Amino acid sequence: MPAPQSLSFASLGSGSKGNATLISDGETHVLVDCGFGMRDTERRLARLGLHPRQLEAILVTHEHGDHIGGVGALARRHGLPVYLTPGSWLSGRLGEVPRHHWITPQARFAIKGLVIDPVTVPHDAREPVQFRFQARDRCLGVLTDLGHPSAHVTEAFQGCDALILECNHDRGMLAEGPYPPRLKRRVGGDWGHLANVQAAKLLKELGLDRLQRIVCSHLSEHNNRPELVLETLVPLLDGDESRLLVAAQDLGLDWQTVN
Ligand SMILES: [Zn+2]
Ligand SMILES: [Zn+2]
Repeated sequence: MPAPQSLSFASLGSGSKGNATLISDGETHVLVDCGFGMRDTERRLARLGLHPRQLEAILVTHEHGDHIGGVGALARRHGLPVYLTPGSWLSGRLGEVPRHHWITPQARFAIKGLVIDPVTVPHDAREPVQFRFQARDRCLGVLTDLGHPSAHVTEAFQGCDALILECNHDRGMLAEGPYPPRLKRRVGGDWGHLANVQAAKLLKELGLDRLQRIVCSHLSEHNNRPELVLETLVPLLDGDESRLLVAAQDLGLDWQTVN
């Protein structure tokens, strides 16, 4: 269950087969993305102590199937409003939903006690954003699906207390792995996904002192291994590995409280 009266978060699962993240201030719970089928989503939510009807809204980062694939059905079945950019909507991948609200990149909005800053990211979707959440004087960054850490991203995610960060691939594994050349270029390119070394560089630029939790997310099944992510990031942490967590495809990540 989310902790009462504090900013907390959990992952239903993370990776190219589906992503969904819960954010809560203890009273208001929102879901960021849903790339899982409905029964699977309900089961994953139950594991984290929530029923879909307890959600206040679903926020969509972009229209790739691993993020939007399960949003429409879940919203329709449980009467949930969906927040997304006009670009994500125009992809046509959401279908009809009971209510939707536009997200304007870089324009702050709030859902009850959660203050949300949508941040434009370099990724090969129509109008992709990632999010910075603030509640109860604490701040959580959600930052996956970006091809490189742009200056805008680096500035926008300064000062977070916790960060969910893409560590998609190891460059060596991607180069030697099973993907066809075109897909390798896409994933490793400036509008694809963040490599472990890029995640490390970004973390250094953001500064690690304030970060209580760093959640490595969206790991590629074929082009990465948790050990390689840890090998890359642990040297940044002055030996305090307890701050570093990995969100898995099947099991996600249990509730974490930002103190
Ligand atoms: Zn994705
Ligand atoms: Zn994507």
